[in-house]
Amino acid sequence: YKGAPANLRDALAVARNHGDREFLVYEGERRSFNQVMDEADALGAALQAAGIAKGDRVALAMRNYPEWMAAFIAVTAIGAVVVPVNSWGQPDDIAFTVEDAEAKLVICDQQRYDGVAERLKAKGMRVLIARPADDNDPDSLARFTADFTGKAPQPVELDGEDLALIMYTSGTSGKPKGATSTHRAVAQSLVNMECAGMAAAMTNGELITKMLEAGNEPTSLLAVPLFHVSGCHAQFLANIRGGRRIVMMYKWDVDRALKYIEEERVTTMAAAPSMVLDLLESEGFDAADTSSLFSVGLGGAATPPKVGALLREKLPMNFSGTGYGMTETNAQGASLTGKAFQEKNRTAGIPHPIVDIRICDEEGGELPPGATGEIWVRSVANIREYWNRPEANAAEFRDGWLKTGDVGFLDEDGFLCLADRAKDMIIRGGENIYPVEIESTLIEHDAVREVAVIGLPHERLGEEVAAVVHLHPGATLSEQELVDFARANMATYKVPTRVFFSEQPLPRNATNKLLKRDIKAALLEQ
Ligand code: ATP
Ligand code: MG
Repeated sequence: YKGAPANLRDALAVARNHGDREFLVYEGERRSFNQVMDEADALGAALQAAGIAKGDRVALAMRNYPEWMAAFIAVTAIGAVVVPVNSWGQPDDIAFTVEDAEAKLVICDQQRYDGVAERLKAKGMRVLIARPADDNDPDSLARFTADFTGKAPQPVELDGEDLALIMYTSGTSGKPKGATSTHRAVAQSLVNMECAGMAAAMTNGELITKMLEAGNEPTSLLAVPLFHVSGCHAQFLANIRGGRRIVMMYKWDVDRALKYIEEERVTTMAAAPSMVLDLLESEGFDAADTSSLFSVGLGGAATPPKVGALLREKLPMNFSGTGYGMTETNAQGASLTGKAFQEKNRTAGIPHPIVDIRICDEEGGELPPGATGEIWVRSVANIREYWNRPEANAAEFRDGWLKTGDVGFLDEDGFLCLADRAKDMIIRGGENIYPVEIESTLIEHDAVREVAVIGLPHERLGEEVAAVVHLHPGATLSEQELVDFARANMATYKVPTRVFFSEQPLPRNATNKLLKRDIKAALLEQ
């Protein structure tokens, strides 16, 4: 989109327009838009003084802390490249990412610092700590910036094609890959966010008027990691530009979320469908005053119809919606809210004006509406390539298009409908089966809290359908009952022939996606 800023410094400078209004609420701390921008200015100046120059990588190995946001703004404003690190990882994973990106400087929280500082320093990296246990620690971030309070970085020349960000994928289907974005791509991704917001406003005008009449200031609950597009782009960047308040959580926790919704009058939140299900089904939800919450944004994984139904039932003013996107598209590239979201429960949205989506066969030929194939995306917001991954680069990009590895179709109205990831598809006796569809049905059973459907090797059929189920506390369910429920609700060839019950919640990654690879490996080992 031509009118969009070409670099992130200019795109984020808009935050100053929101001035001294409250931007960030975090565990009892409150910051205005100006305060966050001031922090970023001081840090940018300090980084320059420490020799961080254009193109240098600066890694952020922190959980959700306000310093993360200031650092993101500072690093991109001086032309250096931000590397958000999955801070859920073990020290080995964190060190791998930082070393893979060849960072020059790393900003950690105390816990990450304790895990990795020594070995990163041994590689010649500068390592700083946000909120050190000891204020006098020589690596304290506050000490690093102390002499720069009130200062701003020297202006650097920024071109849209300069690198701004290396963000790692969630690692759901394999080892995380570093996705490299230019300033233009990330700035354009903000256009995508604003398209989604505008569509929401247009399709839900009446509800928005009601919300404003209720006197609640637009406030977003940020309960997902900042190191992923869902927290970084769709929440932090979109809201600091849009002038909306954020209540940020260190990590997801249903009871704390309910407390924040009630006390801070949260109006909107964005989360993975499993988190929303946990929230809406929690004992506390009905007792809490959640009347301010009118919109829940879903994405990152398929939304079972049950979630849509619960939203309709539990939010009196509901203009929730969903979006489709990934690290490689710099967050959502298709979205929808309003009636369509409520009526078409398989759709993940309509492609935004700056995004092209087509469905392709294995040779890359475009398929007609209604036909199922691989989803390809072309967009100015797409990443340039993967960092240090020549094979993935050769396999996943073609003629300006990104091959997503997701399977779906465009319906007759142009809505994108998702089946599943190609890698998760089960082929049982020659029939293609998409596990997401079976999971969405089985989760409707009252006893089922979580379910993963995977393919297990089968001598005659090639693969058979297995379901791994975790029940609600106190609920009981037999294998036969689950199979009967499945039989009544789906075609026979999709009905699971193996059922496993898990006492533990199913393993998920930092973005709350089921780690089916791990679940399958554990079953095969058994
Ligand atoms: P990795 O690429 O490392 O395996 P990942 O694909 O989970 O991890 P992300 O970039 O966080 O990493 O996730 C993007 C993926 O999430 C998409 O490719 C798609 O499979 C899934 N996804 C995103 N939005 C939706 C949606 N609305 N419905 C269903 N699936 C979605
Ligand atoms: Mg992926």
